[in-house]
Amino acid sequence: MELIDGKKISAEIKDECKEKALRLIRSGKEPCLAVILVGNDPASSIYVNNKKKACEYCNIKSLSYELDENTTEKELLDLIEKLNNDPSVDGILVQLPLPKHIDEDKVFAAIDPLKDVDGFHIKNVGALCIGKPVLVSCTPAGVIELLKRSNVEISGKRCVVIGRSNIVGKPMALLMLSENATVTICHSRTKDLEAVCKEADILIVAIGKPRFIDSKYVKDGAVVIDVGIHRDENNKICGDVNFDDVKEKVSKITPVPGGVGPMTIAMLMSNVITACERK
Ligand code: NAP
Repeated sequence: MELIDGKKISAEIKDECKEKALRLIRSGKEPCLAVILVGNDPASSIYVNNKKKACEYCNIKSLSYELDENTTEKELLDLIEKLNNDPSVDGILVQLPLPKHIDEDKVFAAIDPLKDVDGFHIKNVGALCIGKPVLVSCTPAGVIELLKRSNVEISGKRCVVIGRSNIVGKPMALLMLSENATVTICHSRTKDLEAVCKEADILIVAIGKPRFIDSKYVKDGAVVIDVGIHRDENNKICGDVNFDDVKEKVSKITPVPGGVGPMTIAMLMSNVITACERK
């Protein structure tokens, strides 16, 4: 069994972004990400801080907007409009979750698709659907990088994605399709999940249930990508896959932590660079 090292691969990607950012700065285009946080959810504050640190490392300027919990939808939309019209801003990220009185879909739709570094705008989702991805949701884009940089052949392989969320499962399946895998998407109504998963050469798990997938679901020699992040009853970080149970069966696997997790921010940096290069 070989571990797919997300820490190492994400560090490589951030170093590449850093180089590209320097080249852009020399050509007079400083890459810039605007991050908006509404409210004071402690987990969101940590994510936003990590994003700021990554920007600093990659020579990307970051602007931070920390808005009060009671900010109205109109105030948030007005700020997005202002950032859309600011030519010095390349990427706009609104940290989720938003307070309940704000409609997430309206917010995603308001962001200029060219600055939509989370890849959530319908135009970017549509581009991915027709096989012309530009700004792609960061976590699934990170999984593709993990596979490619670990020399996993995707073309022609049977891939099973467990999960169909708009943020992970669906874009993941579309990206694997763009890479010419034969893709099956599973969800809570899938019959005989075990049998379907056992067909996979590449099994991508985004089911949102701690250690749910064990060796019964895994074919001998399969590559397993675990997107899940949880804290178990002992406060230990774990994934959607029961790592200890499957590790003897797989050819390659991502650990949790240190697998898919660090890739999300690296791909965010990469999306900011892409948006700046296209400007
Ligand atoms: P989600 O919105 O809860 O989606 C879970 C998916 O799993 C749904 O499509 C659901 O099916 C399906 N599912 C649930 N129970 C199932 C079952 N028994 N059999 C088959 N399918 C089942 O979760 P998400 O946002 O996609 O996230 C998935 C996981 O990835 C979570 O653990 C999350 O913490 C993690 N995550 C990690 C990162 C990262 O940076 N590494 C980023 C985002 C998410 P239905 O559609 O039928 O309900």
